[in-house]
Amino acid sequence: MPEVLERNTGLGGSAKPDARVSSGSSGEASGEASRPANPAVRVVGAIGNNGGVSDAPVSPIPAPPVNGSSARQAAAAPAGSDQPLRLMCVHAHPDDESSKGAATMARYVDEGVEVLVVSCTAGERGDVLNPALKGRPEIEENIREIRRAEMAQAQRALGVAHHWLGYVDSGLPEGDPLPPLPEGCFALVPLEESTRTLVELVRRFRPHVMTTYNEKGGYPHPDHIRCHEVSVAAFEAAGDPEAFPGTGDPWQPLKLYYDVTFTKERVEAFHNALVEHGIESPYSEWLANWEERAASMRAPKVTTTIYCADHFERRDAALLAHATQVDPQGWFFKVPLDVQREVFPWEQFELARSLVDTDIPEDDLFAGVRERVRAT
Ligand SMILES: [Zn+2]
Repeated sequence: MPEVLERNTGLGGSAKPDARVSSGSSGEASGEASRPANPAVRVVGAIGNNGGVSDAPVSPIPAPPVNGSSARQAAAAPAGSDQPLRLMCVHAHPDDESSKGAATMARYVDEGVEVLVVSCTAGERGDVLNPALKGRPEIEENIREIRRAEMAQAQRALGVAHHWLGYVDSGLPEGDPLPPLPEGCFALVPLEESTRTLVELVRRFRPHVMTTYNEKGGYPHPDHIRCHEVSVAAFEAAGDPEAFPGTGDPWQPLKLYYDVTFTKERVEAFHNALVEHGIESPYSEWLANWEERAASMRAPKVTTTIYCADHFERRDAALLAHATQVDPQGWFFKVPLDVQREVFPWEQFELARSLVDTDIPEDDLFAGVRERVRAT
């Protein structure tokens, strides 16, 4: 979720870890795009807490075991290869996938890329944010099941595969002093343990590209920060034959990105367009306080801009599927889609790790990867 949509607080409930995979049927700090001095990068930026990525040899790419093939997927097979490209997007809660890079995922699905969304937690401590659904005990008492159904609907809208990593929402601690995190929640699970779970999934799905959040979580929720830590650790360990024995054959993803949602450039584009069209802008206050808010955040370093204007409807359909979490009258939906297409028809990402050569700025998450896969 963009930060202002996200309000995970302490509703009760517990979740049994499970690990199912199903196939789909079918807000941030400011930052200008950065331009690294050397356009050909192999390792970009300094992230995480596990040092550098080993330049391990890339394994041959076998058929992916967790997502069936289809004519659509076959269409995306790189020339010289009969295997589709694969993208794994790791998120903290159900709904995060629909507000961060969702149109990009839908575009890649349409191009035949296999896309797997991973939800680290079931979001069972998320507040009901839709005013029309607040205060209904039948929803609050069954929030976990309802959020599973919402996620399934969002998954159908995007056409992606989905996997529950099986951990319990940590909730967003509030108060001064902050209360302790609830026992057994995702953020308190030892990193080694949750990393092992994700490494096993990486070795099964064999993504060429992964996405996650930056080291600040993109938004300071304990599950978002943990999502970053687990994703980076799994990216770095999955290709290491010595790491996590018993979780499958090593597989080294080639690129790791951080989601970038609301840059100042994007918010200003929306604000100015609304003013121009005579529509009241919900962004005035946000922009007025931008520097103050940005001071406590980590400015994204945009490296990659994906054109995805034709997939905004599917992004919005997926977001609205999370009916308990989203106010359909909220600011997220204030900018008409034709205006969005006109002024900001993209989603953006920050390249955090690359084991292939690529030129920055990029317009494709698989830049450099297609060539590598084609050569295998
Ligand atoms: Zn979240």
